[in-house]
Amino acid sequence: MTETLLINFLIFLLPVLVYLIVLEYKYTFRNKKVLILLGSLSTILCMSYPITLELGFTFDLRYFPFIIAALYGGYKVSFPLIFVIIVYRLIVGGNGVIQSIILSTAIFMVVPLLHKKFLTLNTTKRIWCAAGVAFGIIFTFLITLTRYYETLNTEYWIISINSITIYVVGIVIIICLVEKIISNSQLRDKLVTTEQMNVISELSASISHEIRNPLTVTSGFLQLLNKSESITPQEKWYIELSLQELNRAEKIVSDFLAFGKPQSVNMVHCNFKDETEYVKNIITPYANLHKVSVELNFSNTLSKTYDKNQVQQCLLNLYKNAIEAMKDNGGILSIDVSSQDHNIIIKIKDTGIGMSNEEISRLGKPYYSTKHEGTGLGMLMVFSTINKLDGKIEVTSQVGKGTTFLITIPTP
Ligand code: ADP
Ligand code: MG
Repeated sequence: MTETLLINFLIFLLPVLVYLIVLEYKYTFRNKKVLILLGSLSTILCMSYPITLELGFTFDLRYFPFIIAALYGGYKVSFPLIFVIIVYRLIVGGNGVIQSIILSTAIFMVVPLLHKKFLTLNTTKRIWCAAGVAFGIIFTFLITLTRYYETLNTEYWIISINSITIYVVGIVIIICLVEKIISNSQLRDKLVTTEQMNVISELSASISHEIRNPLTVTSGFLQLLNKSESITPQEKWYIELSLQELNRAEKIVSDFLAFGKPQSVNMVHCNFKDETEYVKNIITPYANLHKVSVELNFSNTLSKTYDKNQVQQCLLNLYKNAIEAMKDNGGILSIDVSSQDHNIIIKIKDTGIGMSNEEISRLGKPYYSTKHEGTGLGMLMVFSTINKLDGKIEVTSQVGKGTTFLITIPTP
């Protein structure tokens, strides 16, 4: 029977390979379709190679795909799998159909409950959790079996020991694989973004400097020309339009300049206090104008080395976006800087228009803006700066309610 169990285990590795080789570039691991399709496939294969016990009960690894689907995908994903399990079990028939269905249903009700909690765990805890679930399932199965054996004979004990070992070891191996797949794909995404940021910052710094000079010169001369008395009102209007457009260009260039490499003259080792307060002070008139009140709470004790100008610009962009989101009805912008373990936590919360999930996922893409006068460069700069500090940004938002930016910056 060990051979059969190993075949079962190999069957379960098949979808993992299929995913890695064929699907990985198109779908993320937690894509529902992928989980359901591959899960059903391996469930059916597993159930086609069962161990049939003397009693007519069958035993196999059918719950493996289910455990993965339930823990990573919750009820929605595990429902189709339990459906497959039950229907297939009905087709196979034999003894123990009813018991098997009752057991499946019970497992289906309980295991997906862990889904939300499971996703918040780190890899080691996820492995423990899955191993616990696997043990629980196989234990329940074995307990149900005892009721049908007249005496607990050698067959029963061999099955028990083998199946518990295979279930627990198997699920540990598979969760390790799955976690590795997830972390690899996250790493790849991160590399790509970092690479993009680097290219943008190299390009932008050089181009922005070159463009800024001609812009300043042109706008200077246009202003002089505008003062001349010999021009007609029509010409004056043209000049004003040109000046306005030059201003816009200047705005884009300033947003872009900030991408440049950190400059050693600006580097400080500090706790963000000066920057948060300075930016709060310069943004306050703008906030008052839009009936927004600004609250600042500062309790951070950790220090980090950073480029002062870039951090100021980054905070400014975040505060500005928050205020612009509350433009119509006013609201509260609350800024909270604190420390937790070895991380500096910056929380910027507004009570503005909020964003849908789709909008959140587009944040930070160059030129993505929903504003009439927007440049769509502000968030790009924010992501680039936080990236350089090895930090991460989490955005939670509710349309109509407001948005929270949670920035976590690790300190050495
Ligand atoms: P811009 O402000 O010039 O439009 P940004 O890169 O700063 O460009 O922001 C991009 C888009 O992200 C904004 O147009 C807006 O739709 C959305 N956004 C950013 N911050 C917020 C926020 N706090 N609340 C709602 N939407 C936001
Ligand atoms: Mg902005």
